[in-house]
Order: sequence, then structure tokens, then C-alpha cells
Amino acid sequence: MLMDYPGYERFQMSGKDEQGFLQFTCLWLNGEGMCQDHANRLPLCRNFPDKTLHFCGGALPPGCGYTIAEVRPFDRYLADEIKNTDNNGKNTDS
Ligand code: SF4
Repeated sequence: MLMDYPGYERFQMSGKDEQGFLQFTCLWLNGEGMCQDHANRLPLCRNFPDKTLHFCGGALPPGCGYTIAEVRPFDRYLADEIKNTDNNGKNTDS
């Protein structure tokens, strides 16, 4: 994988979380928690936190300054979908 993504050499495995997911640390992170080359960081870093992290059941690391806020709670989408579905499972909202 590093041959395909040489920029990822900066990441080093640091352990596993409670769920068994691998955790990594970055060699470019300085002692103050800042990126040493922020202007040239990887697209992965620029896009963090990607919304797919949340949808895949992931969570932001403790102390991370980002938050993921739902625009509309999922249970409201579900309630609307149930309300608009007939007994045959067809959506009647159209
Ligand atoms: S933003 Fe910088 S310090 Fe943070 S993971 Fe990316 S390269 Fe490493």
C-alpha cells in the first residue's frame, strides 16, 4: 500500500482502540498538536473529518476539535418514511 500511497509513510501504527480498529499517529504532528507542513498536507488530512467516518460508525478521536452535527436527526427521516409507506411497502409520498 505504501508503494501506491507514498505520502502515507508519515503514519505509524500506534495501537488499537476498544473495538479493535487500528490507530495511527503522524510523524508530522509536533509537540503542540500542530501539523509541521499544514500547507502541504495530504487530501486525507484536508478532508478530515469525512462524513463517511460518521456513517461507518466511526468516531472522532478524544480531544479532536471537530464535531459532526446531524442537520436532521435520523429518527425523523425514519418516521417520515414509515408515515409515507403503505402496507405493501410502497412509498406514497409523491
Ligand atoms: S494534518 Fe499534518 S499532522 Fe495531521 S495527520 Fe495530516 S500530515 Fe499529519
